[in-house]
Amino acid sequence: MKFSEIAKYMERLEATSGRIEMIHILTELFRKASSPDEAAIIAYVILGELHPPYTGLELGMSEKLIIRSIALASGYNTSLVDKRMTEVGDIGKVAEEFIGRKKQVSLFPVELTLDRVYNTLDKIAKTAGEGSIDVKVRLLTSLLIDSTPKEARYIARLVDGTLRLGVADMTILEALALCKGSRELKPILEEAYNKYPDIGYIAKVLFKEGLDGIKKIEVTPGIPIRPMLAERVRSPEEAWEKTGGKLAAEFKYDGERVQIHKFDNGNKVLIFSRRLENITHQFPDVIELVKKNVKADNVIFEGEAVAFDPETGEFKPFQELMHRKRKHDIERIAREIPVTLRVFDLIYLNGVSYLKKPFIERRRRLEEIIESNDYIKPSEIIYPRDTKELWEFFHLAIENGCEGLVIKSLASNSVYQAGARGWLWIKLKRDYRAELTDTLDLVVVGGLYGRGRKGGLLSSFLMAVYDEKNDVFKTVCKVGTGFKDEDLTEMNKNLKPLIRDRRPARVIAKMEPDVWIEPQIVLEIQAAEITLSPIHTCAYGVFQEDVGLALRFPRFTGRYRYDKSPEDATTEKEVIEMYKRQRRIVTEA
Ligand code: AMP
Repeated sequence: MKFSEIAKYMERLEATSGRIEMIHILTELFRKASSPDEAAIIAYVILGELHPPYTGLELGMSEKLIIRSIALASGYNTSLVDKRMTEVGDIGKVAEEFIGRKKQVSLFPVELTLDRVYNTLDKIAKTAGEGSIDVKVRLLTSLLIDSTPKEARYIARLVDGTLRLGVADMTILEALALCKGSRELKPILEEAYNKYPDIGYIAKVLFKEGLDGIKKIEVTPGIPIRPMLAERVRSPEEAWEKTGGKLAAEFKYDGERVQIHKFDNGNKVLIFSRRLENITHQFPDVIELVKKNVKADNVIFEGEAVAFDPETGEFKPFQELMHRKRKHDIERIAREIPVTLRVFDLIYLNGVSYLKKPFIERRRRLEEIIESNDYIKPSEIIYPRDTKELWEFFHLAIENGCEGLVIKSLASNSVYQAGARGWLWIKLKRDYRAELTDTLDLVVVGGLYGRGRKGGLLSSFLMAVYDEKNDVFKTVCKVGTGFKDEDLTEMNKNLKPLIRDRRPARVIAKMEPDVWIEPQIVLEIQAAEITLSPIHTCAYGVFQEDVGLALRFPRFTGRYRYDKSPEDATTEKEVIEMYKRQRRIVTEA
């Protein structure tokens, strides 16, 4: 096919605003494809791509380099083209203008073909390393020399990544369906695309093997699938109703969703984001972990990578993961911002697709192949008998630094719905977020031993408020964040004489620390918010039966309140007031 033909269609697409008309134009264009390979190229190019985005292959030409190529091809000064670009602001228009008044006109003009444009752009993308800039400029210049003004418009935009014809991948699928049959084909194409989101590949298979070929497309290690998404409810009761009580509930971790592919005899690991970008380089630590602790060589599974403190096991806010989004020094960042992987679904195992299997089967199989440790384990899960258990688990999740729960249907049709949002997964998030501005002064009543470098040292602490009415101490959080090495040394020295092997009589607790501590030492604690909790005893039963209050994301501020006796600590009553105030702020906001 001539490139001028494509350019004509691009111009028509640019001028349409209606989707239906757009589909008709595209259908007509696909009908002109002379081979499966050409159909594939058309699909990519219309979307402004050369390859599916997950390959991460980019043309790597800045606007400056495109301007240089336009100048070379048209015989004008770079500064002139540059100036025009500042005035016009559209690289396509600038290319069109300058190629339209080329100083040298070829005596033997060659017509550009779609193949040549595509292959040249592909070469530009694949040229890397020393001297590659000059090669890229030369390649683009050669195309522009042979192009008409209109072709130059679209070539320049393709290279610049600003083609933007307003065509989405789903529009292409619909056009392909119409081209090869009728609209009814679309769901079948979509199902294949969800498993293998490479628009060119879908077009090629359809043209070459027809519908039979499309139906045979399966999940493939190395190719990301489009992820399953969740609907939302506002309460456990609603989730119960939606699933008819047939449900499992998992912590909803606040990190980054990762789709992990392990293949090539277990030697190759690729990691994809929720948007199907290849983010493998951000997780060198996870790659090692997957090689060692996932007992399968050919597998695709999903989980959430969460920033955490390996010494206390506490999760950190997901913003911490942002630091990993960089090109260099990632090994160091991986050490500084450790992550733990909470695995939650199985998509493929040893040649078998698990997409159509019910959730419980996928989960069981997943649990079998994961050798758990602190850095990798299946997501926390329960199979609740009633909404009360669901509520408790919800509060527990929040208190552990999670966003809430993801409820998973246990119905027999609970398949993995690639690329779809449905009621088989339901998210239940807490719907408020308010920073606590006040700090609290809390009493140490228990200690937990650290792991790793802090092994043998008490490094997180069970903290309590004072209940003045009953003259007892009630727990409100476990804190392991904010302690410097010197702090831990000091804490361990000061706590040693206070260690008890039985719960001190005035301490009311449900949680069991490694050691109990006689209430004496008061620390200043900052937290993100107060939440309901089934495992802490502060305000137990006040707001809800069998549930107390807890601090979320507690952190030691560095201030020891040696000036305070335990009875001077923040009281239970104060925390109740703070919680009410917080709720008011939230409902008013
Ligand atoms: P949302 O991003 O709010 O639509 O919620 C869905 C997201 O929750 C998923 O894309 C995952 O990244 C995340 N998530 C965290 N924990 C789980 C879990 N146990 N199961 C499924 N998704 C989870």
